[in-house]
Amino acid sequence: MTQDDLAFDKRHIWHPYTSMTSPLPVYPVVSAQGCELQLASGEHLVDGMSSWWAAIHGYNHPRLNAAMTAQIDRMSHVMFGGITHPSAVALCRKLVEMTPEALECVFLADSGSVAVEVAMKMALQYWQAKGEPRQRFLTFRNGYHGDTFGAMSVCDPENSMHSLWQGYLPQHLFAPAPQCRFDGEWDEHDMIPFARLMAAHRQQIAAVILEPVVQGAGGMRMYHPQWLKRIRKMCDREGILLIADEIATGFGRTGKLFACEHAGITADILCLGKALTGGTMTLSAALTTRTVAETISNGEAGCFMHGPTFMGNPLACAVASESLALLAENHWQAQVSAIEEQLKAELAPARDAALVADVRVLGAIGVVETTRPVNMAALQRFFVDRNVWIRPFGKLIYLMPPYIIHPEQLSRLTRAVNLAVQDETLFSA
Ligand code: PMP
Repeated sequence: MTQDDLAFDKRHIWHPYTSMTSPLPVYPVVSAQGCELQLASGEHLVDGMSSWWAAIHGYNHPRLNAAMTAQIDRMSHVMFGGITHPSAVALCRKLVEMTPEALECVFLADSGSVAVEVAMKMALQYWQAKGEPRQRFLTFRNGYHGDTFGAMSVCDPENSMHSLWQGYLPQHLFAPAPQCRFDGEWDEHDMIPFARLMAAHRQQIAAVILEPVVQGAGGMRMYHPQWLKRIRKMCDREGILLIADEIATGFGRTGKLFACEHAGITADILCLGKALTGGTMTLSAALTTRTVAETISNGEAGCFMHGPTFMGNPLACAVASESLALLAENHWQAQVSAIEEQLKAELAPARDAALVADVRVLGAIGVVETTRPVNMAALQRFFVDRNVWIRPFGKLIYLMPPYIIHPEQLSRLTRAVNLAVQDETLFSA
């Protein structure tokens, strides 16, 4: 890439959550292999992000590439209305098999946010069809579910700046974020505000929506699985649906195939995405029960009112099936637990740094929370200079590497984090 390309990028291309007037620097990546990204300058960076939870098998995987190439030779895409194809059927079979028994009906969508929209719409249509319309969702603060309007309406009101959309965004119910930590003691008091909110609005709540066990982009918080057991019980008692957004946590990241397994519960609607295609293509899914699907189908509309152009995209389905096959063959449990042990051991020293408020690890997720917000541009440069790719935000420096990472590569990442938290100049005042 030339300087001219970079100048064009800066002038004309939006990047995630960026200003068009004073954008943060972007680093040109020209190829990626295994756990490394190659910059245009020739340097190789060890990847600590899995491209936002997605590239669990690393980059440029020959099996994933072969699955895509074979599918391209048959057909890249065909509409899903009135048509089906072997790749969608094979993938949905796998998804139905690997998720809890009750989740039998799969809706394929284009991205995580759309899967959340679909899940929320399913809940609304479910209540509509029952002749008892309900329009509110109950969720936690510090949640994150995506950037489309429905999804945004259940994201943390402050982090996602609900103030900007006042009068436009539906008003949902926000309980305080769980305080009992994943590895801490369970305290019954933690649930009181949530239980009260549910009791006060029980006739209006269509569904509870949450990220099981790990709240991701809203703070990288890891909470006690007992929460999920209790919420499942409360939802059952009131007939309220439970939507589990496992777009980030799904496919082994937390040490279980799905994070709901930490509590042994099944949601009524399960959202999957990100790692579904091993980080190669955009694809998501919302799975639900036969009861929810049939109730919707017997309602006024007679169908579920959603059908994206690229629904069931064959290329994405084919590579997703192969990624799930790899996941099974690669012994992901052993990979993730080895990463967990190493992250625990190697991030522990960060606890002693004056700038560090907390260190927490679950599965293949390691989080260092700092006392001051990071200086993004400076810290990103610091990491790139040490040949690692780590993208912090707010007061969070976190690692979620591909499951295939080598111990030496992971050590390179943890060393860089430990060094960074010693350097005050990398943080805002
Ligand atoms: N839900 C969760 C829990 C997520 O982490 C994300 C993405 N960060 C989304 C939904 C939205 O997914 P996408 O960015 O693919 O729309």
